[in-house]
Amino acid sequence: MRRVSVFGATGSIGQQTLDLVSRAPESYDVVALTGGRNIARLAADARRLDAEIAVTADAALLGDLRAALRGSGVEASAGAAALEEAATRPADWVMSAIVGAAGLAPGLKALEQGAALALANKESLVTAGPLLMETAKRHGAQVLPVDSEHSAIFQALVGEDMAAVEKVIITASGGAFRDWPLEKLAEASVAEASAHPNWDMGQRITIDSASMFNKALELIETHEYFGVSPDMIEVLVHPQSYIHALVGFRDGALMAHLGAPDMRHAIGYALHYPERAELPVERLDLARVGQLDFASPDPARYPALELAHEVMRRGGLSGAVFNAAKDAALDAFIAGQIGFTQMADVVAEVMNRLLPDDGLINATMNLDNVARAGQVSETEARASISRRN
Ligand code: NAD
Ligand code: MG
Repeated sequence: MRRVSVFGATGSIGQQTLDLVSRAPESYDVVALTGGRNIARLAADARRLDAEIAVTADAALLGDLRAALRGSGVEASAGAAALEEAATRPADWVMSAIVGAAGLAPGLKALEQGAALALANKESLVTAGPLLMETAKRHGAQVLPVDSEHSAIFQALVGEDMAAVEKVIITASGGAFRDWPLEKLAEASVAEASAHPNWDMGQRITIDSASMFNKALELIETHEYFGVSPDMIEVLVHPQSYIHALVGFRDGALMAHLGAPDMRHAIGYALHYPERAELPVERLDLARVGQLDFASPDPARYPALELAHEVMRRGGLSGAVFNAAKDAALDAFIAGQIGFTQMADVVAEVMNRLLPDDGLINATMNLDNVARAGQVSETEARASISRRN
């Protein structure tokens, strides 16, 4: 029996994870399931899968969750601290499928206890990639990518030497507005941006696909997870979404990963890793598909991609600034306060304000001065220099 926990169990990725787990209930011991406001779904799944604990992120809903779980033997708790506590409960495999930076803290706790972390929550890598990867290393825990592109790259790299990798290409469907006239984009509605041509996903990531802010996050995710330099990572528009990523090697070979657009493939690969198990996903019939199309992304249509390159160039905390600004801009778009194309303007503006060109240098030199002043007085410094001489 493998002990598994699912963070963000009530969402799109979470539900697909539970679908796979439910198909072989005898193989899994469900530890923690977490959700947000959908208490009915969280409680029903926790009962059905006989979870040890169910946690809602919303502290005000603890009473509702308790009531919904009465008599089931499933523990109930609520709030951000409860989420972290649930992540410390021993598990072999933890799905990180909370949306946004809120996924970072429970993910770190899961790694600290040595669980394999199946990472759908790309925002963890964007906001704090080095911290997440170092925590995994320190605790001998594995991070398994669940984003479809990153699972594809991971699979294409099995048995390969990273030194032989020349480039990594992540594909993008182009989202809902791929073929819209550029001048119409400013008026795009929330409903129009929420309809993805190929993938059935949560609303936020679907809108982020139309703007390619999702692909921007994935560029940074690729850089942080695989440690490849930004100039080696490319985005390729591929409307059919059958190829998820390609890895180019120094001998000219391109290894592509193909499959139906169904997240249960990437989730299942991480769940069964390093084995390949049979999965209930549609088999791709290439003769029926007939044709695969490719194009370069138009920078004018997708300004988010250049912003991602800026984040990778700057490093440091710029990913956290970028992700938070993107989230706030997305909230404002969904609330009808700004237009579709203004999201990128808002993010660029916030980055320029919080991360001026010399901002990191100034901050670094300030800290350098403060640390020196605090630690070593001038005379001590001189004495230590003369001792060394
Ligand atoms: P979703 O909105 O469908 O579900 C999000 C889950 O997180 C829900 O369980 C929700 O209750 C919970 N949640 C939301 N805010 C929270 C908070 N502040 N604290 C704790 N829990 C909170 O989202 P999704 O589409 O399943 O995406 C989840 C993650 O997976 C995201 O990082 C997304 O980028 C990534 N991802 C999703 C897909 C997809 O096909 N849906 C594909 C690749 C990557
Ligand atoms: Mg993806």
